[in-house]
Amino acid sequence: MTVTVVTGSASGIGAAVCKQLAKAGHRVIGIDRQNADIVADLSTAAGRKAAVEAALAACDGVLDGLVCCAGLGPTAPSSSVIVGVNYFGMTELVEGLEDALARGSKPAVVLIGSVASVHPGMDKLPMVSAMLAGDEAGALAQADAMAMPQAAYAGSKYAVTVFARRKAVPLGARGIRINVVAPGAVETPLLDASRADPRYGEAIRNFVAPIGRNSAPDEIANVVSFLQSEQASFVHGTVVFVDGGMDGMSRSDRF
Ligand code: NAD
Repeated sequence: MTVTVVTGSASGIGAAVCKQLAKAGHRVIGIDRQNADIVADLSTAAGRKAAVEAALAACDGVLDGLVCCAGLGPTAPSSSVIVGVNYFGMTELVEGLEDALARGSKPAVVLIGSVASVHPGMDKLPMVSAMLAGDEAGALAQADAMAMPQAAYAGSKYAVTVFARRKAVPLGARGIRINVVAPGAVETPLLDASRADPRYGEAIRNFVAPIGRNSAPDEIANVVSFLQSEQASFVHGTVVFVDGGMDGMSRSDRF
């Protein structure tokens, strides 16, 4: 039986992914802050280490899939915690579980990015350079110094996308596929919190996808399920926008 670890399993996109993968016959090991097979705080190095150790024990060191959904939006308590969960909470899980994935059958990884990752200028931020250099203390300090949670969010999603693309060569050599799914607006508690926030609510209400509505979590999970399946056996190192046309609208001439 295919064994897949899913982070952020307790809510929103992660919960929808767990449901679909279980229905497709995977054994799913969920990780979240609460209501999960493995309860862990992915915002800290100690929490991530504990999550990796518990996941390795639960799968006996052999893993076929990893889907990293756990993430925080711009309404999180601080910019640094956004970077901690959205970047290091994904990349350290990939690195910690890489050997187990290499022992798995047709292993595949999906990281949940965001259409926000294409926001111009993210590649120039020192916070992003620190993330990509693996300098967690530096990245967290830069994020809090900027005090722009929306930049911490977009920057963390840009960095995690770059991380995945850079991993295409080393993971491909080990037979592990890795891809990023970049959602637009998805009806989850994360979006509800942003919409209710006076800083972001109006922009979120005004930024409507060309398709004329937001997504349901299952519409994102459908694409994750495909990427984790053998039908996607030659899809590797790429970014799939599942955004109702937002990226096409905002950068039609760049792809
Ligand atoms: P959600 O709030 O419903 O789910 C996020 C999950 O992550 C929650 O279960 C939460 O407990 C978990 N989590 C947060 N911090 C954690 C921590 N420190 N340790 C362990 N688990 C933690 O939100 P969602 O919309 O389903 O978000 C899933 C992913 O999708 C996130 O990475 C988010 O950035 C991304 N995303 C969401 C949208 C959207 O509009 N909802 C758009 C683009 C990308």
